[in-house]
Amino acid sequence: MKNSKLYITTTLPYVNAEPHIGHALEFVQADALSRYFRNKIGKENVFFNVGTDEHGQKIFEEAEKEGLTVQEFVDKYAQRFKDFCELFYVEYDYFYRTSAKEHYKAAQEFWKRCDKKGDIYKKKYKGLYCVGCERYITEKELVDGKCPDHNRVPELKEEENYFFKLTKYKKTLLEWLDKNPDVLKPKRKLVELKAIIEEAEDISISRLKENLPWGIEVPDDPEQILYVWFDALTNYVNVLGFGTDEERLEQWWPGVQLFGPDNLRFQGSIWQGMLASVGLPFSKKLLEHGMVLGSDGKKMAKSLGNIISPFDQEKKFGAEIVRFYLLAGISTFADSAYKEEDLINMYNSRLANNFGNLLNRVIHLANSRGVRIGREDSVEKEFKEAVDALESEIEELFEEYEIALAAEKVDILADFGNKYITEKEPWEKNKEEVEVEAVLNNLSYLLNSVIEYYNPIIPSSCTKAKQALKNQEKIILFEKI
Ligand SMILES: [Zn+2]
Repeated sequence: MKNSKLYITTTLPYVNAEPHIGHALEFVQADALSRYFRNKIGKENVFFNVGTDEHGQKIFEEAEKEGLTVQEFVDKYAQRFKDFCELFYVEYDYFYRTSAKEHYKAAQEFWKRCDKKGDIYKKKYKGLYCVGCERYITEKELVDGKCPDHNRVPELKEEENYFFKLTKYKKTLLEWLDKNPDVLKPKRKLVELKAIIEEAEDISISRLKENLPWGIEVPDDPEQILYVWFDALTNYVNVLGFGTDEERLEQWWPGVQLFGPDNLRFQGSIWQGMLASVGLPFSKKLLEHGMVLGSDGKKMAKSLGNIISPFDQEKKFGAEIVRFYLLAGISTFADSAYKEEDLINMYNSRLANNFGNLLNRVIHLANSRGVRIGREDSVEKEFKEAVDALESEIEELFEEYEIALAAEKVDILADFGNKYITEKEPWEKNKEEVEVEAVLNNLSYLLNSVIEYYNPIIPSSCTKAKQALKNQEKIILFEKI
Protein backbone atom coordinates (compact mmCIF):
# COMPACT_ATOMS: atom_id res chain seq x y z
CA MET A 1 0.00 0.00 0.00
CA LYS A 2 1.25 3.42 -0.93
CA ASN A 3 0.78 5.15 2.39
CA SER A 4 2.43 2.54 4.57
CA LYS A 5 5.77 4.20 3.88
CA LEU A 6 7.03 7.38 5.47
CA TYR A 7 9.74 9.57 4.05
CA ILE A 8 11.30 12.20 6.32
CA THR A 9 13.90 14.71 5.22
CA THR A 10 15.77 17.69 6.63
CA THR A 11 16.88 20.52 4.37
CA LEU A 12 20.45 20.21 3.18
CA PRO A 13 22.55 22.70 5.13
CA TYR A 14 24.84 24.87 3.09
CA VAL A 15 28.37 23.68 3.83
CA ASN A 16 30.19 26.95 4.14
CA ALA A 17 30.80 26.53 7.86
CA GLU A 18 30.53 24.21 10.86
CA PRO A 19 27.12 22.81 11.85
CA HIS A 20 25.43 25.33 14.13
CA ILE A 21 22.78 24.85 16.78
CA GLY A 22 19.94 25.47 14.30
CA HIS A 23 21.15 22.59 12.13
CA ALA A 24 21.45 20.53 15.30
CA LEU A 25 17.81 21.19 16.16
CA GLU A 26 16.55 20.24 12.71
CA PHE A 27 18.62 17.07 12.52
CA VAL A 28 17.68 15.77 15.96
CA GLN A 29 14.02 16.61 15.39
CA ALA A 30 13.99 14.64 12.15
CA ASP A 31 15.87 11.82 13.86
CA ALA A 32 13.41 11.67 16.76
CA LEU A 33 10.46 11.47 14.37
CA SER A 34 12.19 8.78 12.32
CA ARG A 35 12.85 6.74 15.44
CA TYR A 36 9.27 7.09 16.62
CA PHE A 37 7.83 5.99 13.29
CA ARG A 38 10.35 3.20 12.78
CA ASN A 39 9.12 1.71 16.02
CA LYS A 40 5.51 2.29 15.06
CA ILE A 41 5.34 1.16 11.43
CA GLY A 42 8.55 -0.85 11.03
CA LYS A 43 12.11 0.13 10.19
CA GLU A 44 11.70 -0.83 6.54
CA ASN A 45 8.81 1.60 6.14
CA VAL A 46 10.71 4.74 7.14
CA PHE A 47 13.31 6.50 5.02
CA PHE A 48 15.25 9.34 6.61
CA ASN A 49 17.33 11.63 4.42
CA VAL A 50 19.88 14.26 5.48
CA GLY A 51 22.79 15.77 3.59
CA THR A 52 24.62 18.87 2.49
CA ASP A 53 24.17 21.55 -0.16
CA GLU A 54 27.59 22.03 -1.74
CA HIS A 55 27.38 24.48 -4.65
CA GLY A 56 27.11 28.23 -4.99
CA GLN A 57 29.21 31.34 -4.86
CA LYS A 58 29.60 31.56 -1.09
CA ILE A 59 31.23 28.14 -0.98
CA PHE A 60 33.42 29.06 -3.91
CA GLU A 61 34.61 32.18 -2.08
CA GLU A 62 35.09 30.52 1.32
CA ALA A 63 37.16 27.71 -0.21
CA GLU A 64 39.50 30.29 -1.71
CA LYS A 65 39.83 32.01 1.67
CA GLU A 66 40.79 28.74 3.35
CA GLY A 67 43.26 27.95 0.55
CA LEU A 68 41.50 24.73 -0.41
CA THR A 69 40.12 23.48 -3.69
CA VAL A 70 36.34 23.66 -3.67
CA GLN A 71 36.03 19.89 -3.56
CA GLU A 72 38.42 19.69 -0.59
CA PHE A 73 36.47 22.43 1.11
CA VAL A 74 33.07 20.75 0.73
CA ASP A 75 34.51 17.38 1.71
CA LYS A 76 35.83 18.89 4.91
CA TYR A 77 32.54 20.47 5.94
CA ALA A 78 30.32 17.62 4.78
CA GLN A 79 32.43 15.46 7.08
CA ARG A 80 31.73 17.83 9.97
CA PHE A 81 28.01 17.25 9.44
CA LYS A 82 28.59 13.51 9.40
CA ASP A 83 30.62 13.85 12.62
CA PHE A 84 27.76 15.79 14.10
CA CYS A 85 25.28 13.04 13.20
CA GLU A 86 27.44 10.38 14.75
CA LEU A 87 28.00 12.34 17.91
CA PHE A 88 24.30 13.16 18.38
CA TYR A 89 22.87 9.75 17.47
CA VAL A 90 21.31 10.98 14.23
CA GLU A 91 20.66 7.70 12.45
CA TYR A 92 19.94 8.69 8.86
CA ASP A 93 19.25 6.24 6.05
CA TYR A 94 21.01 8.41 3.50
CA PHE A 95 23.46 11.30 3.57
CA TYR A 96 22.90 13.23 0.36
CA ARG A 97 25.66 15.35 -1.13
CA THR A 98 24.94 17.67 -4.03
CA SER A 99 28.51 17.45 -5.31
CA ALA A 100 28.00 13.73 -6.01
CA LYS A 101 27.94 12.79 -9.69
CA GLU A 102 24.58 10.95 -9.45
CA HIS A 103 23.06 14.17 -8.22
CA TYR A 104 24.26 16.06 -11.31
CA LYS A 105 22.36 13.71 -13.60
CA ALA A 106 19.20 13.76 -11.54
CA ALA A 107 19.18 17.56 -11.14
CA GLN A 108 19.66 17.96 -14.90
CA GLU A 109 16.82 15.53 -15.51
CA PHE A 110 14.59 17.63 -13.29
CA TRP A 111 15.52 20.70 -15.31
CA LYS A 112 14.78 18.91 -18.58
CA ARG A 113 11.31 17.96 -17.41
CA CYS A 114 10.48 21.51 -16.36
CA ASP A 115 11.81 22.69 -19.70
CA LYS A 116 9.73 20.16 -21.62
CA LYS A 117 6.67 21.42 -19.79
CA GLY A 118 7.45 24.88 -21.15
CA ASP A 119 8.27 26.28 -17.71
CA ILE A 120 11.80 27.55 -18.41
CA TYR A 121 12.70 30.58 -20.51
CA LYS A 122 15.76 32.78 -20.99
CA LYS A 123 15.88 36.51 -20.42
CA LYS A 124 18.24 39.35 -19.71
CA TYR A 125 18.14 40.26 -16.10
CA LYS A 126 19.52 43.15 -14.15
CA GLY A 127 19.16 43.13 -10.42
CA LEU A 128 20.62 43.28 -6.95
CA TYR A 129 22.23 40.02 -5.98
CA CYS A 130 22.98 39.04 -2.39
CA VAL A 131 25.74 36.43 -2.27
CA GLY A 132 24.70 35.61 1.30
CA CYS A 133 21.20 34.65 0.18
CA GLU A 134 22.43 33.32 -3.18
CA ARG A 135 19.55 35.10 -4.88
CA TYR A 136 18.43 38.36 -6.37
CA ILE A 137 16.71 40.48 -3.81
CA THR A 138 14.28 43.31 -4.36
CA GLU A 139 14.72 46.97 -3.40
CA LYS A 140 11.83 46.48 -1.01
CA GLU A 141 13.75 43.91 1.01
CA LEU A 142 16.78 46.15 1.60
CA VAL A 143 17.40 47.86 4.92
CA ASP A 144 19.78 50.83 4.68
CA GLY A 145 20.85 49.56 1.27
CA LYS A 146 21.89 46.20 2.70
CA CYS A 147 20.44 42.71 2.81
CA PRO A 148 18.98 42.56 6.34
CA ASP A 149 19.83 38.87 6.74
CA HIS A 150 23.47 39.25 5.79
CA ASN A 151 24.25 42.90 6.50
CA ARG A 152 25.87 42.95 3.11
CA VAL A 153 25.49 45.40 0.23
CA PRO A 154 24.10 43.44 -2.73
CA GLU A 155 25.95 43.48 -6.06
CA LEU A 156 24.32 44.96 -9.14
CA LYS A 157 24.39 42.20 -11.71
CA GLU A 158 23.36 41.95 -15.29
CA GLU A 159 23.18 38.51 -16.79
CA GLU A 160 21.20 36.55 -19.28
CA ASN A 161 19.70 33.78 -17.22
CA TYR A 162 17.10 31.09 -17.36
CA PHE A 163 13.89 31.65 -15.46
CA PHE A 164 11.37 29.28 -14.00
CA LYS A 165 7.70 30.16 -14.47
CA LEU A 166 6.73 30.04 -10.85
CA THR A 167 3.87 32.47 -11.50
CA LYS A 168 2.18 29.84 -13.66
CA TYR A 169 1.59 27.74 -10.52
CA LYS A 170 0.41 30.45 -8.12
CA LYS A 171 -3.21 29.51 -8.44
CA THR A 172 -2.55 25.79 -8.10
CA LEU A 173 -0.41 26.38 -5.00
CA LEU A 174 -2.99 28.60 -3.34
CA GLU A 175 -5.77 26.12 -4.05
CA TRP A 176 -3.65 23.34 -2.58
CA LEU A 177 -3.17 25.31 0.63
CA ASP A 178 -6.86 26.20 0.80
CA LYS A 179 -7.79 22.55 0.53
CA ASN A 180 -4.99 21.35 2.83
CA PRO A 181 -4.45 24.00 5.48
CA ASP A 182 -2.91 21.38 7.79
CA VAL A 183 -0.05 20.68 5.43
CA LEU A 184 2.03 23.37 7.13
CA LYS A 185 3.01 23.41 10.79
CA PRO A 186 2.81 25.66 12.68
CA LYS A 187 -0.54 26.69 11.29
CA ARG A 188 -0.02 30.38 12.05
CA LYS A 189 2.57 30.47 9.24
CA LEU A 190 -0.05 29.76 6.61
CA VAL A 191 -0.84 33.45 6.18
CA GLU A 192 2.83 34.17 5.57
CA LEU A 193 3.17 31.37 3.05
CA LYS A 194 0.10 32.48 1.14
CA ALA A 195 1.49 36.02 0.96
CA ILE A 196 4.81 34.66 -0.32
CA ILE A 197 3.01 32.77 -3.06
CA GLU A 198 0.78 35.68 -3.99
CA GLU A 199 3.81 37.95 -4.37
CA ALA A 200 5.92 35.35 -6.16
CA GLU A 201 7.61 36.22 -9.43
CA ASP A 202 9.30 33.98 -11.95
CA ILE A 203 12.70 33.14 -10.54
CA SER A 204 16.15 33.05 -12.01
CA ILE A 205 17.39 29.47 -11.99
CA SER A 206 20.78 29.71 -13.64
CA ARG A 207 24.03 31.66 -13.48
CA LEU A 208 26.73 32.37 -16.03
CA LYS A 209 29.44 29.78 -15.70
CA GLU A 210 32.21 32.32 -16.31
CA ASN A 211 31.14 34.05 -13.09
CA LEU A 212 30.80 30.87 -11.12
CA PRO A 213 32.49 27.70 -12.31
CA TRP A 214 31.39 25.58 -9.34
CA GLY A 215 28.03 23.98 -10.09
CA ILE A 216 25.97 21.83 -12.43
CA GLU A 217 25.78 22.67 -16.13
CA VAL A 218 22.44 23.54 -17.66
CA PRO A 219 21.47 20.78 -20.10
CA ASP A 220 22.37 21.83 -23.67
CA ASP A 221 23.86 25.14 -22.54
CA PRO A 222 27.27 24.62 -20.92
CA GLU A 223 27.78 28.37 -20.51
CA GLN A 224 25.20 28.37 -17.76
CA ILE A 225 25.04 26.52 -14.50
CA LEU A 226 22.06 25.65 -12.33
CA TYR A 227 21.19 28.15 -9.67
CA VAL A 228 22.27 26.53 -6.40
CA TRP A 229 18.81 26.40 -4.89
CA PHE A 230 17.22 24.79 -7.93
CA ASP A 231 19.94 22.18 -7.92
CA ALA A 232 19.74 21.47 -4.18
CA LEU A 233 15.95 21.32 -3.90
CA THR A 234 15.76 18.44 -6.34
CA ASN A 235 17.60 16.24 -3.83
CA TYR A 236 14.36 15.47 -1.97
CA VAL A 237 13.07 13.37 -4.84
CA ASN A 238 16.35 12.41 -6.47
CA VAL A 239 17.27 10.39 -3.42
CA LEU A 240 14.07 8.37 -3.88
CA GLY A 241 14.75 7.52 -7.51
CA PHE A 242 13.58 10.51 -9.54
CA GLY A 243 14.72 9.89 -13.12
CA THR A 244 16.26 6.54 -12.24
CA ASP A 245 13.71 4.43 -10.35
CA GLU A 246 10.25 5.94 -10.65
CA GLU A 247 8.58 2.96 -9.04
CA ARG A 248 10.58 3.49 -5.89
CA LEU A 249 9.88 7.22 -6.03
CA GLU A 250 6.17 6.55 -6.16
CA GLN A 251 6.39 4.34 -3.08
CA TRP A 252 8.01 7.02 -0.95
CA TRP A 253 6.96 10.40 -2.29
CA PRO A 254 5.35 12.67 -0.98
CA GLY A 255 7.29 13.08 2.23
CA VAL A 256 7.56 15.05 5.45
CA GLN A 257 9.97 17.99 5.19
CA LEU A 258 11.61 19.80 8.10
CA PHE A 259 13.14 23.24 7.70
CA GLY A 260 13.89 26.48 9.50
CA PRO A 261 12.01 29.78 9.46
CA ASP A 262 14.29 31.35 6.83
CA ASN A 263 13.37 28.58 4.44
CA LEU A 264 9.61 28.89 4.05
CA ARG A 265 9.86 30.62 0.66
CA PHE A 266 11.99 27.84 -0.78
CA GLN A 267 10.16 24.87 0.72
CA GLY A 268 6.61 26.14 0.63
CA SER A 269 6.58 28.05 -2.65
CA ILE A 270 9.51 27.47 -5.04
CA TRP A 271 9.94 23.77 -4.37
CA GLN A 272 6.20 23.12 -4.57
CA GLY A 273 6.07 24.99 -7.88
CA MET A 274 8.89 22.81 -9.17
CA LEU A 275 7.02 19.69 -8.09
CA ALA A 276 3.91 20.87 -9.89
CA SER A 277 5.96 21.48 -13.02
CA VAL A 278 7.31 17.91 -13.17
CA GLY A 279 3.91 16.49 -12.26
CA LEU A 280 4.76 15.17 -8.79
CA PRO A 281 2.47 15.51 -5.75
CA PHE A 282 3.09 18.33 -3.30
CA SER A 283 4.88 17.56 -0.01
CA LYS A 284 2.90 15.57 2.52
CA LYS A 285 3.85 17.81 5.41
CA LEU A 286 5.90 20.97 5.83
CA LEU A 287 7.30 21.33 9.34
CA GLU A 288 8.87 24.69 10.11
CA HIS A 289 10.82 24.49 13.34
CA GLY A 290 11.57 27.60 15.36
CA MET A 291 14.81 29.46 15.62
CA VAL A 292 17.22 28.70 18.46
CA LEU A 293 18.02 32.06 19.99
CA GLY A 294 20.93 33.02 22.20
CA SER A 295 20.49 32.90 25.97
CA ASP A 296 19.70 36.64 25.78
CA GLY A 297 16.69 35.83 23.62
CA LYS A 298 18.28 37.47 20.58
CA LYS A 299 19.13 35.96 17.23
CA MET A 300 22.62 34.47 17.51
CA ALA A 301 25.32 36.58 15.89
CA LYS A 302 29.08 36.78 16.11
CA SER A 303 28.83 40.47 16.91
CA LEU A 304 26.61 39.75 19.93
CA GLY A 305 28.89 37.01 21.22
CA ASN A 306 25.88 34.80 21.93
CA ILE A 307 26.62 31.92 19.57
CA ILE A 308 26.18 28.44 21.02
CA SER A 309 28.04 25.61 19.34
CA PRO A 310 26.50 22.12 19.49
CA PHE A 311 30.00 20.67 19.70
CA ASP A 312 30.88 22.79 22.76
CA GLN A 313 27.60 21.86 24.39
CA GLU A 314 28.31 18.19 23.77
CA LYS A 315 31.70 18.51 25.47
CA LYS A 316 30.12 20.23 28.42
CA PHE A 317 27.00 18.10 28.97
CA GLY A 318 27.15 15.08 26.67
CA ALA A 319 25.18 14.52 23.47
CA GLU A 320 22.06 13.03 25.01
CA ILE A 321 21.49 15.82 27.47
CA VAL A 322 21.85 18.36 24.67
CA ARG A 323 19.47 16.29 22.53
CA PHE A 324 17.03 16.10 25.39
CA TYR A 325 17.06 19.84 25.82
CA LEU A 326 16.74 20.58 22.10
CA LEU A 327 13.79 18.22 21.77
CA ALA A 328 12.01 18.50 25.09
CA GLY A 329 13.09 21.94 26.32
CA ILE A 330 13.10 23.97 23.11
CA SER A 331 9.68 24.54 21.60
CA THR A 332 9.23 22.36 18.51
CA PHE A 333 7.59 25.02 16.33
CA ALA A 334 8.43 28.38 17.92
CA ASP A 335 11.58 30.42 18.52
CA SER A 336 13.23 29.66 21.88
CA ALA A 337 16.21 30.95 23.79
CA TYR A 338 18.86 28.31 24.54
CA LYS A 339 19.70 28.67 28.21
CA GLU A 340 22.12 26.38 29.98
CA GLU A 341 20.36 26.90 33.32
CA ASP A 342 17.13 25.68 31.72
CA LEU A 343 18.94 22.70 30.28
CA ILE A 344 20.33 21.81 33.72
CA ASN A 345 17.01 22.31 35.52
CA MET A 346 15.06 20.33 33.00
CA TYR A 347 17.55 17.50 32.98
CA ASN A 348 17.62 17.30 36.77
CA SER A 349 13.88 17.50 37.26
CA ARG A 350 12.71 15.30 34.42
CA LEU A 351 15.47 12.77 33.93
CA ALA A 352 17.46 12.55 37.17
CA ASN A 353 14.65 13.11 39.70
CA ASN A 354 11.69 11.70 37.85
CA PHE A 355 12.45 8.96 35.31
CA GLY A 356 15.88 7.98 36.66
CA ASN A 357 14.75 7.99 40.27
CA LEU A 358 11.74 5.77 39.53
CA LEU A 359 13.88 3.33 37.59
CA ASN A 360 16.37 3.06 40.48
CA ARG A 361 13.69 2.64 43.11
CA VAL A 362 11.87 -0.12 41.23
CA ILE A 363 15.00 -2.11 40.45
CA HIS A 364 16.41 -1.66 43.94
CA LEU A 365 13.18 -2.69 45.72
CA ALA A 366 12.58 -5.65 43.43
CA ASN A 367 16.07 -6.91 44.19
CA SER A 368 15.96 -6.31 47.93
CA ARG A 369 12.56 -8.01 48.28
CA GLY A 370 13.48 -10.70 45.77
CA VAL A 371 10.32 -10.29 43.68
CA ARG A 372 9.79 -10.78 39.96
CA ILE A 373 8.91 -7.85 37.72
CA GLY A 374 8.43 -7.43 33.99
CA ARG A 375 5.42 -9.76 33.72
CA GLU A 376 3.16 -7.84 31.40
CA ASP A 377 0.30 -10.36 31.60
CA SER A 378 -0.17 -9.79 35.33
CA VAL A 379 -0.30 -6.00 35.39
CA GLU A 380 -3.38 -4.84 37.30
CA LYS A 381 -6.23 -3.84 35.01
CA GLU A 382 -6.94 -0.41 36.40
CA PHE A 383 -3.28 0.55 36.49
CA LYS A 384 -2.73 -0.70 32.96
CA GLU A 385 -5.67 1.31 31.68
CA ALA A 386 -4.29 4.48 33.24
CA VAL A 387 -0.88 3.93 31.63
CA ASP A 388 -2.37 2.99 28.26
CA ALA A 389 -4.52 6.11 28.24
CA LEU A 390 -1.43 8.29 28.69
CA GLU A 391 0.35 6.26 26.01
CA SER A 392 -2.38 7.08 23.50
CA GLU A 393 -2.04 10.75 24.27
CA ILE A 394 1.72 10.56 23.75
CA GLU A 395 1.28 8.76 20.43
CA GLU A 396 -1.23 11.32 19.24
CA LEU A 397 1.28 14.07 19.90
CA PHE A 398 4.11 12.28 18.12
CA GLU A 399 1.81 11.68 15.19
CA GLU A 400 1.16 15.41 15.10
CA TYR A 401 4.98 15.88 15.11
CA GLU A 402 4.70 17.66 18.47
CA ILE A 403 7.94 16.32 19.91
CA ALA A 404 8.29 18.67 22.90
CA LEU A 405 4.66 18.18 23.95
CA ALA A 406 5.01 14.42 23.62
CA ALA A 407 8.13 14.54 25.83
CA GLU A 408 6.19 16.54 28.40
CA LYS A 409 3.54 13.80 28.51
CA VAL A 410 6.21 11.15 29.01
CA ASP A 411 7.36 13.16 32.01
CA ILE A 412 3.78 13.12 33.32
CA LEU A 413 3.72 9.35 32.88
CA ALA A 414 6.93 8.96 34.92
CA ASP A 415 5.53 11.30 37.54
CA PHE A 416 2.39 9.18 37.73
CA GLY A 417 4.69 6.24 38.57
CA ASN A 418 6.49 8.17 41.30
CA LYS A 419 3.21 9.24 42.89
CA TYR A 420 1.94 5.69 42.76
CA ILE A 421 5.03 4.27 44.47
CA THR A 422 4.85 6.95 47.19
CA GLU A 423 1.22 6.09 47.82
CA LYS A 424 1.77 2.30 47.88
CA GLU A 425 4.97 2.41 49.99
CA PRO A 426 6.35 -0.93 48.81
CA TRP A 427 9.41 -0.34 51.03
CA GLU A 428 7.36 -0.75 54.25
CA LYS A 429 8.59 -3.84 56.11
CA ASN A 430 5.08 -5.02 56.99
CA LYS A 431 3.89 -5.18 53.35
CA GLU A 432 3.05 -8.64 52.07
CA GLU A 433 5.33 -9.95 49.35
CA VAL A 434 2.42 -10.43 46.89
CA GLU A 435 1.41 -6.84 47.29
CA VAL A 436 4.97 -5.56 46.82
CA GLU A 437 5.37 -7.75 43.78
CA ALA A 438 2.13 -6.44 42.24
CA VAL A 439 3.08 -2.81 42.81
CA LEU A 440 6.59 -3.22 41.39
CA ASN A 441 5.35 -5.26 38.47
CA ASN A 442 2.85 -2.53 37.63
CA LEU A 443 5.67 -0.02 37.75
CA SER A 444 7.94 -2.02 35.50
CA TYR A 445 5.12 -1.95 32.95
CA LEU A 446 4.94 1.82 33.27
CA LEU A 447 8.72 2.15 33.04
CA ASN A 448 8.85 0.15 29.84
CA SER A 449 6.36 2.57 28.42
CA VAL A 450 8.40 5.59 29.54
CA ILE A 451 11.46 4.01 27.93
CA GLU A 452 9.62 3.34 24.69
CA TYR A 453 8.44 6.92 24.33
CA TYR A 454 11.65 8.56 25.48
CA ASN A 455 13.58 6.39 23.08
CA PRO A 456 13.17 8.73 20.07
CA ILE A 457 14.57 11.53 22.21
CA ILE A 458 17.36 9.89 24.24
CA PRO A 459 17.99 6.60 22.42
CA SER A 460 21.24 5.62 24.09
CA SER A 461 20.00 6.07 27.66
CA CYS A 462 16.80 4.23 26.83
CA THR A 463 18.70 1.24 25.50
CA LYS A 464 20.61 1.09 28.80
CA ALA A 465 17.46 1.59 30.86
CA LYS A 466 15.64 -1.19 29.04
CA GLN A 467 18.52 -3.58 29.62
CA ALA A 468 18.81 -2.65 33.29
CA LEU A 469 15.10 -3.13 33.90
CA LYS A 470 15.05 -6.45 32.12
CA ASN A 471 18.04 -7.80 34.05
CA GLN A 472 17.08 -6.02 37.28
CA GLU A 473 20.52 -4.45 37.44
CA LYS A 474 21.15 -1.38 39.52
CA ILE A 475 22.05 1.57 37.33
CA ILE A 476 22.58 5.31 37.79
CA LEU A 477 21.60 6.55 34.36
CA PHE A 478 21.17 10.21 35.08
CA GLU A 479 23.65 11.69 37.53
CA LYS A 480 22.44 15.02 38.81
CA ILE A 481 24.31 18.01 37.42
ZN1 LIG B 1 21.33 38.11 2.00
